[in-house]
Parts: sequence; structure tokens; C-alpha cells
Amino acid sequence: MRPFNFIKTENVSQALSQKKETAQFIAGGTNLIDLMKKNIAQPDTLLDITSSLSNKIEKKSKGIEIGAMVRNTAVALDETVLSQHPLVSKAILAGASPQIRNMASTAGNLLQRTRCPYFYDVTTPCNKRKPGSGCSAITGENRMNAIVGYNEQCVAVHPSDLCIALAALDAEVNFISKNQKQGSIDFKNFHKLPESTPQKDHTLPENSLITSVSINENHFNKNFAYVKVRDRDSYAFALVSVAAALHLKDNKIVEARLASGGVAHKPWRWYEAEKFLKNKEPNAKNFAEAATIATKDLKPLSHNSFKVSMLKGAIETALQDCIKV
Ligand SMILES: Cc1cc2nc3c(=O)[nH]c(=O)nc-3n(C[C@H](O)[C@H](O)[C@H](O)COP(=O)(O)OP(=O)(O)OC[C@H]3O[C@@H](n4cnc5c(N)ncnc54)[C@H](O)[C@@H]3O)c2cc1C
Ligand code: SF4
Repeated sequence: MRPFNFIKTENVSQALSQKKETAQFIAGGTNLIDLMKKNIAQPDTLLDITSSLSNKIEKKSKGIEIGAMVRNTAVALDETVLSQHPLVSKAILAGASPQIRNMASTAGNLLQRTRCPYFYDVTTPCNKRKPGSGCSAITGENRMNAIVGYNEQCVAVHPSDLCIALAALDAEVNFISKNQKQGSIDFKNFHKLPESTPQKDHTLPENSLITSVSINENHFNKNFAYVKVRDRDSYAFALVSVAAALHLKDNKIVEARLASGGVAHKPWRWYEAEKFLKNKEPNAKNFAEAATIATKDLKPLSHNSFKVSMLKGAIETALQDCIKV
């Protein structure tokens, strides 16, 4: 680990004015410090933003706004989140450990880096860590890697649980840029595919600060489920995960939402399956058909074809769980 300066910023203006290419913001530090220990991230300055950003969850006219510094545990246990967007709470509680969730911030969770083993092994080629060096996972140990939404540049998967629920609920990410302009990005456009820039995971403008995440009111607080399949029951990232939510009326699905983690470079929405479910009855046959539609065109790598049937089962289970709630 290289020596670095540490500056505790007091407010957003100070944090943005101190931000330069070689500096990095630090929130809970649960991902960044690991990256620094392994010399993957080498900032010369850490800008502590824990006192500069909101740690409150606020009700707004259209829904709720979760401050960037609200810790994962606080989001998961918040009464408004539990009553209006319980899927978010379920997803968070499926991740990490209580200690990590106590430290991890909302914004930091969105920006955590992939868990591809080669990304963390600095002795191997990795386009995400060192652009142009190659991708070791394509022909290597790719059991945990993608089955959709990848290219020859990078086959890594998005690691977060929270983000899968936020993707399903069409959340928005609010930010303030270096020149103090405020903006927001639809969640579906926040994380990106590898394209020709696999080193970039998201579309947040350079040197910007995430200030909050908004979730609009919706009808997905009664019939929802989060299914995470992993090697261990705790403290493990998803092999595949599924966030499912149904808006039901008169035994018909008015609208369905289905998103997955552990399958693609970004949280992945199964739009075709969602469309199929619209106006159908919520029953086992339709759930099985939706899972078949979602998994029909997947392209597993050499060591992860098991993920296809695993995902199919996870989608069916999640949809079934939605009507058990
Ligand atoms: C052992 C272990 C197991 C884990 N298991 C899971 C799991 O199962 N599921 C899961 O979802 N996660 C898991 N995690 C990841 C954990 O959730 C993340 O490390 C955490 O959410 C990151 O939040 P943080 O506040 O600590 O971010 P930090 O480490 O402080 O920062 C992460 C990145 O975000 C940037 N950043 C932070 N805040 C802002 C902001 N407001 N604006 C702009 N940039 C910002 C930082 O500069 C840095 O680049 C695990 C982590 C560990 C160590
Ligand atoms: S999959 Fe992506 S993160 Fe993993 S080795 Fe290839 S380029 Fe690196």
C-alpha cells in the first residue's frame, strides 16, 4: 500500500474542490481500502466524504430519496423503506455481513468493483485493471463470470445485491459534478456494458459525487422476492441473484419486474420475460415460461454453463415467492 494524504471534507463544495484525478473519495472504505491494499487503486489523497453527504432517508413528493451516506444497515432497517420498498431491504440483507453493512454506504455500494479473481491478482492481464492488457478470465477460471452482457474485452459480473433491487425498481442516481452542476441518471443507464472501455463500470461523470438515490412510489411493496444463490449462505457474492416484483390486481399481473446480479457486467433486466408476464395470471406455468424466455439466449463461458439452469430455477423460485408474501 502506498502512502497517501487523508482529508476529512466538511461539505460538498470542499469535497469537489479538492477532487483531482489522483484523489479518491472514501465513504465506508469497505471496498476501496481492499483495492488500495492490493495496489489496484493507488490514490495519493483520500477525501473522506462521510460528513459531507446526507445520511438521511427523506420522503419526497414522488417517492423517497436515500442520502449517499446512509449506511446499508440503516437503509435495510428503515421503516419507510420496509413499508414502501421492502425489496431493497431484502436485497441488502442478502449481502455481505452485518459488520460490512454497518460501514458500507449507499453510494459506495453502487460503485463497488467487480469480484473477478483476475481483477484482484495484479500479476495477471486484466483489461479492467490495466486497459489493453487482455482478459484472463475468458479462457481462465470463469465460473463466477458472465453469461450475458459481456464482450471479448471483459466477462466480469456486477457484484452488488442492493443494485439489483434498485434496477428492478427503476431507481435514479442523483449527483453533483465537479463544476457544481446537479444531475441524475436512470438506474438502467448508470452501470454500463464493457464496450471498448471495460475499465469503466458506470456512467457517473468523472470527479462527481453521488448525493442520493431516488425511488419513486410504485405498486411493488406487496408481492416481491429476492433470491440469491451462492457458494456459502453468508459472506459470499451471488453466483446468480434475482429481484422479482409483481403488481397484481384481480388475479392478473398488471406489471412485472425481474432483474439479476451475477450474470452480466451490469445489473440485468429481463425485459422480454417481464413483457410476457403482463396481463397473465400469476401461476406456476406462466412463471416457468417467463424463466424460459429469460434464459433462452444466454451465452455461458467455458466453466459456468451451470449458471443457466441455476438462473432459470432462481427466476421461477423468485416469482413463486412473490405470491407467497
Ligand atoms: C468480504 C466482503 C463481502 C461482501 N459481500 C457483498 C455482498 O454479498 N453483496 C454486496 O452487494 N456487497 C458485498 N460487499 C461489498 C460491499 O457492499 C461494498 O464494499 C460496499 O457497499 C462499498 O461501500 P463503501 O461505502 O464502503 O464504499 P467505499 O469503499 O468507501 O467506496 C467504494 C467506491 O465508491 C466511491 N464513492 C463512495 N461514495 C461515493 C460518492 N458519494 N460519490 C462518488 N464516489 C463515491 C469511492 O471513491 C470508491 O471508488 C462485500 C464486501 C466485502 C469486503
Ligand atoms: S473479466 Fe474483466 S475483470 Fe476479469 S480478467 Fe477479464 S477484463 Fe479483468
